[in-house]
Amino acid sequence: MTWLEEGWRHVWLPYAQMQTAPLPMPVARTQGARIILEDGRELIDGIASWWTACHGYNHPHISEAVAKQLEAMPHVMFGGLAHEPAYRLSTRLAALMPGDLNRVFFTDSGSVAVEVAIKIAVQSRLNQGVRGRTKILAFSGGYHGDTIGTMAICDPEEGMHSLFTGLLPENPVVPLPKDAASVASFEAFLEREHKNLAAIIVEPLVQGAGGMVFHGPEVLQRLRAAADHYGLTLIFDEIFTGFGRTGTMFAFEQARVVPDIVTLSKALTGGTSPLAATIATDRLFETFLSDSPMTALMHGPTYMAHALGCAAANAALDLFETEPRLTQAAAISAQLARELEPCRSLPGVKDVRVMGAIGVVQMHNIKDPPGLRQKLLKEGVWIRPFRDIVYLTPALTITPEELSRLTGAMQTVLAKE
Ligand SMILES: *Cc1c(COP(=O)(O)O)cnc(C)c1O
Repeated sequence: MTWLEEGWRHVWLPYAQMQTAPLPMPVARTQGARIILEDGRELIDGIASWWTACHGYNHPHISEAVAKQLEAMPHVMFGGLAHEPAYRLSTRLAALMPGDLNRVFFTDSGSVAVEVAIKIAVQSRLNQGVRGRTKILAFSGGYHGDTIGTMAICDPEEGMHSLFTGLLPENPVVPLPKDAASVASFEAFLEREHKNLAAIIVEPLVQGAGGMVFHGPEVLQRLRAAADHYGLTLIFDEIFTGFGRTGTMFAFEQARVVPDIVTLSKALTGGTSPLAATIATDRLFETFLSDSPMTALMHGPTYMAHALGCAAANAALDLFETEPRLTQAAAISAQLARELEPCRSLPGVKDVRVMGAIGVVQMHNIKDPPGLRQKLLKEGVWIRPFRDIVYLTPALTITPEELSRLTGAMQTVLAKE
């Protein structure tokens, strides 16, 4: 395969030590919950391409919508011109959101959606003549993206804060207020520091890329109360949890808490196209209205509200209405709980946990992650352990038989770890 060998001298892979990184496996096509390799092997996909492909790959409804949009117009700039896919999508996203979360700002990646959320929170204060409230309170174990601004609100290790000292803006990162001790230190921190803060940001219910760590709805209620008390903007980063992954359409529904800003991406287009959205309340939006151009939101990506992406997202939203996605998520959840439970008694296993369509087996440690990946591959599954966890975030359309292949492979391989 000449494209692979030639290109290998030129591509730069994510988070990879390129000196030792193995050649990735060439993919010929995808279908449903399967990845078909160039050599003909078919893998059951346990990750759904970083949980984007929630409707399975190549869903005909999304493919048709994108093909139709491509024929009419791949994209036009969002400044001064309007196109139906984006306007329709913003209306639909606002309708899905509770309260007065009514204003949608489109971008092209999750990280940038979070950057925009930060800008909204900070500039909103500035527009109201409040200076000095520029810090964002984030939590240990959190992950919000790879750009400079978002690295600065990731877990210090994940965000490589020490490596990039001097480059990153400095933001406080504290433990999530989960138990008596962390609640007390959280409250003391806010009492001391709230005057420097614009916002609190959290991944609701599940800290995804930080190791699939769960917390209860009461944590989100605590954050809402604290944000209200100190006049802070509460940002829920639903880029991982949104669109049924935790069992409800959005994770915050389980806590009955309404944030001030929500960020969405990943499964927004069902894995078809890079698109993200930052959704803010009317109240925040109104702080940008004035007679001066200086209070306008200062952001505007070139490919903002990409028309093909918006067409894909509208089609993906249709599927939540026409196909029983949340019922499927509940069935996946029950099956994951049942079929991963036996892993708990394996010697190397520290914890087994399931929420919605997320199944996690946490190990005491994974000695040889690449070796473990190879063993899983031999079982015909695409599962990528990271840190100390082996996890499943499959397409919500995966069949029970396919899901059993994934959990079976995990059991077989982890039994020998
Ligand atoms: C993936 C992710 C991001 C970053 O999204 P990108 O599209 O990779 O920039 C931000 N927040 C959360 C919770 C994520 O899971």
